Amino acid sequence: MLTVSQLTSLQAILPVDRIHLDANMCKRYGQDWTRYTTPQAAAIVFPVSIEEVQALVRWANVAGVGIVPSGGRTGLSGGAVAAQGEVVVSLERMNRIDGFDPLARTVRCQAGVITAALQQFATDNGLYYPVDFASSGSSQIGGNIATNAGGIRVVRYGMTREWVAGLTVVTGSGEVLECNLGLAKNNTGYDFRHLFIGSEGTLGLVVEATMRLTDPPPATTVLLLALPRLEDIMAVFHAFRSALTLQAFEFFSDLALTHVLAAEHATAPLAERQPFYVLLELEAPTPDAEEQALQQFSRCMEQGWVTDGVLAQSQQQAKALWRLREGISAAITPFTPYKNDISVLVSQLPVFVTRLQALLTRDYPDFEVLWYGHIGDGNLHINVLKPVDWALADFQHACEQVNEQVFALVAEFAGSMSAEHGVGLLKRDYLAVTRSAADIALMRGVRAVFDPNGIMNPGKLLA
Ligand SMILES: Cc1cc2nc3c(=O)[nH]c(=O)nc-3n(C[C@H](O)[C@H](O)[C@H](O)COP(=O)(O)OP(=O)(O)OC[C@H]3O[C@@H](n4cnc5c(N)ncnc54)[C@H](O)[C@@H]3O)c2cc1C
Repeated sequence: MLTVSQLTSLQAILPVDRIHLDANMCKRYGQDWTRYTTPQAAAIVFPVSIEEVQALVRWANVAGVGIVPSGGRTGLSGGAVAAQGEVVVSLERMNRIDGFDPLARTVRCQAGVITAALQQFATDNGLYYPVDFASSGSSQIGGNIATNAGGIRVVRYGMTREWVAGLTVVTGSGEVLECNLGLAKNNTGYDFRHLFIGSEGTLGLVVEATMRLTDPPPATTVLLLALPRLEDIMAVFHAFRSALTLQAFEFFSDLALTHVLAAEHATAPLAERQPFYVLLELEAPTPDAEEQALQQFSRCMEQGWVTDGVLAQSQQQAKALWRLREGISAAITPFTPYKNDISVLVSQLPVFVTRLQALLTRDYPDFEVLWYGHIGDGNLHINVLKPVDWALADFQHACEQVNEQVFALVAEFAGSMSAEHGVGLLKRDYLAVTRSAADIALMRGVRAVFDPNGIMNPGKLLA
């Protein structure tokens, strides 16, 4: 709760109709997609300009109140959760797209622009914004930048970082910084833009961004393949990637398919079920390329890596195949999944997944464990579903016990314990799995420079 004097000084910055104190709003805006922490926000505020954000940060420094930057609240690590009486700063009313530069192929977005709106803006102007994932209808550009979001096309276009040409930020001490000015070339020392990308709201607030756009992709073709063994997946990846340009290379387990089919009331795409499936989207601008895709498919069948497959015959079929992958997260949300989002080098994946599979079968005998993810990036999402009769705290505790083994394996393979979902609250205590003690000490130092009073997203990323 805010004290009377804190509230009075806050009301001097924003009109009362943009300061919300009621329990419903505090619950709604005090949490992200995760359900492992009880939200305890003191207030939710909706600034509409950079000046207001700056005034809010200055107020927080004087009042000694923590700030949680809030985007579309689709985050999967508890980064946007207000768990200890912070004020949530929602950027959703700062959602203007302007400053389109067709020659530079950049566009200026306020932080609250929904990802899908930027994609649509690019399409409407004959261009393409390639960062895409199942939550792009709700997530915001500011949130995408703060988490360096990845998604389904990283294998072709990279992560959000690649698409940020410039940033305007309000630091934790209330300074407004213009980072990189949208330029293609600018070698003038430290590039703060890259520090803010992936900083999860711990250094300041992203208020505006200049985003890069590109050419629309050529025609593509979508295939779904069935695999008996996970360890063959990279052989399939190599076969297709050496012959064609991949737009996406995703995978999911049969258990994931079962859940998505049930949730979407859909029928199985292939007559025969196998433990794993790969969904590929390939650039196929000519009939030759499609022929090449079928040749690689035959080769994978001959090798026994793949036992069945389907090639989408229309846009509608391609969409339906994509739904099987993109619908998984929403399909399992009612089961309060415990998520791990790990990555290793693609070259290490076959050995890594064999070891991981053995470990999970041994340590999670009582739980449903679903696998899916952006396997072409070496990225696996492991989701453990909570049995209905388990209390949330007991379930979380059981999953955290297994984390020790999973993360020891990730460390052995020099992988990442959070490939794209960020660290937030839920993975904070595992940071040392992937980052050295020297790294973490420097991160603390950087944080203290930008946020000397520790008001920005306290308790997230670093303990
Ligand atoms: C169904 C589903 C599918 C998903 N698929 C993917 C995927 O494929 N790849 C992927 O990478 N992620 C995925 N996610 C996770 C999530 O969508 C991304 O992390 C996304 O970038 C979060 O954006 P947001 O606007 O919702 O941020 P929020 O959840 O609101 O916030 C995320 C973090 O960013 C900070 N933040 C938000 N806005 C700002 C700002 N303006 N300035 C500073 N800090 C800020 C918050 O404090 C928090 O730490 C998925 C989530 C769901 C629910």
